[in-house]
Amino acid sequence: MKKSIRLIALILLFPASIVFAQNNDQVVQQIIKEATENSQLKKLAHELTDGIGPRLVGTPQMKQAHDWAVAKYESWGIPARNEKWGEWRGWERGITHIDLVHPRTESLEGMQLAWSASTIGKTVSAETIILADLADSIAFQNWLPNVRGKFVLISMQQPTGRDDRNWEEFATKESLEKMKAERTAATNAWRNRLGKTGLSPKNLAIALENAGAAGIFASNWSSGFGVNKIFSAQSTKIPTIDLSLEDYGMLYRLTESGVNPKVNLRADSKQLGMVPVFNTIAEIKGTEKPEEYVVLSAHFDSWDGGTGATDNGTGTITMLEAMRILKKVYPNPKRTILVGHWGSEEQGLNGSRAFVEDNPEIVRNIQALFNQDNGTGRVVDLSGQGFLHAYNYLSKWLQAVPNEIRSEIKSTFPGTPGGGGSDYASFLAAGVPAFSLSSLSWAYGTYTWHTNRDTYDKIVFDDVQKNAILTAILAYKASEDPTPASREKSILPISQRTGQPMSWPSPRSPIRKGGVN
Ligand SMILES: [Zn+2]
Repeated sequence: MKKSIRLIALILLFPASIVFAQNNDQVVQQIIKEATENSQLKKLAHELTDGIGPRLVGTPQMKQAHDWAVAKYESWGIPARNEKWGEWRGWERGITHIDLVHPRTESLEGMQLAWSASTIGKTVSAETIILADLADSIAFQNWLPNVRGKFVLISMQQPTGRDDRNWEEFATKESLEKMKAERTAATNAWRNRLGKTGLSPKNLAIALENAGAAGIFASNWSSGFGVNKIFSAQSTKIPTIDLSLEDYGMLYRLTESGVNPKVNLRADSKQLGMVPVFNTIAEIKGTEKPEEYVVLSAHFDSWDGGTGATDNGTGTITMLEAMRILKKVYPNPKRTILVGHWGSEEQGLNGSRAFVEDNPEIVRNIQALFNQDNGTGRVVDLSGQGFLHAYNYLSKWLQAVPNEIRSEIKSTFPGTPGGGGSDYASFLAAGVPAFSLSSLSWAYGTYTWHTNRDTYDKIVFDDVQKNAILTAILAYKASEDPTPASREKSILPISQRTGQPMSWPSPRSPIRKGGVN
């Protein structure tokens, strides 16, 4: 009796950790043990996303994150540094308060777009106007004076705020088809309306502010309940605000029906001039071949609508956790294990392109690189990226990974080289065996990627833990392998798009001075 009570108590004490089958490699066993029994993932995610928040290039929070990462590594005994690679237009987000004050009072849900101008410490009170549907650019120029002193609504009104899955579950076939047809027609009509102004989005914003508009209201719906994508403002002197679909639609209908809704807006933000931008680099020095590298890679920056939890907080904490575990259980690797937390991926892989350009000696001696950057899901796809012999080494290293993790991964060999999308592409273009640890979606594109809902609560920690184990084991095996990984490229197939043989992507230079108009 007593014995069984103790057993129950033990089970209750350790209910949450995932159990993996035994592996006879000591290092692999210890990696799994450390990852499952002493996981730091939740703490890291909390400090990064809740404490520091979004990491837009050029913001003080981005710099704070770089300093946090260096301090983290140093607390684990791993030397780390921030390497400056350029400068960017600096900006700091302040509060955004948006209130409907006529015909009734309601606080609206919305935020400034990145790098938006502020209301200069004041609350601006103004009526709204919808971008008019006019015959051509001349008619538009004649209409422009109407925006003076008003908030201009420049996005279409969405016919539904429900996601398509919800419609598919509950709508009749007829009303689903009707909704989709209406939405397509409305989308095309709005595109047409914008096209007839004769102005690019940038020039439209400038024209509105030059005509004396009080601000620009937009709504970049991400096709899911309550979710918008938040990118950069195009205006330079007046604020651009993204409103939730719900509140934008309400304002649109009130404006259209002639109620003349009035909104109070206070938007605080600071323009900080040009500021330096960085990559965070940390290394566990190799003991036999210190001049050869295994690289762990994830971009560190984010857009700033949410807190960059799955883009790319999860890739970031995967690499931090893998490095922490490796330092603890495999402190003397054969090759140097280097981690790169890149800046400004979101504006065009800039930090990693700069690293490739600035470090030819390292780039020439990379055994393999593993990048993770498509959300919180467990890794389910691994491509050989066009390297003829990638199967030989990748599948050998994967053999050490517990079957529970490995069996979910669909691999493609030799595959074709990725031309962009994330930082592995910067290295791949330079001929480095650079691979993307590609995740299960968890509705990434709709619900978290570049959205205002990319927050801590969307992280699926069980999956991220598996990714940290996978990454640590791949790094360990790549470091131990007595044979250098072959860089021989396969003959690429005919492109479906051009009808010509595909060519290997070529290296591109980063933007070193960014955000300058
Ligand atoms: Zn990303």
